[in-house]
Amino acid sequence: MQLNLANQPVRSYSKEKQLSSKRRKPKRSRLAEFSPKVRKQIIERDNGLCVRCYKLHAHVHHVIFRSQGGLGTIDNGVCICNSCHDWAHSCREGRLWFEGYRMRYLI
Ligand SMILES: [Zn+2]
Ligand SMILES: [Zn+2]
Repeated sequence: MQLNLANQPVRSYSKEKQLSSKRRKPKRSRLAEFSPKVRKQIIERDNGLCVRCYKLHAHVHHVIFRSQGGLGTIDNGVCICNSCHDWAHSCREGRLWFEGYRMRYLI
């Protein structure tokens, strides 16, 4: 029993170390937001219209999702309407369409 207990702290320490090294960028969530200035530039670039169907935009959407490490930069944002936004977030096809758009026009 005592041997087991003595071994455990070493293991759980190294596990904690692994976890903390994964989230060592505290600034990431703030960098991922579009600042008001960036948002304005994206809306001006896209004329305030959804880049897919040209309806009036409802959102500035992250082409590379924040959860995938996408940042709040001009080349990662597009104007998008409600229905295209649902589509972008609901299936792989939708996500890839916007990634393709980004590769062609924004980078
Ligand atoms: Zn979105
Ligand atoms: Zn749309």
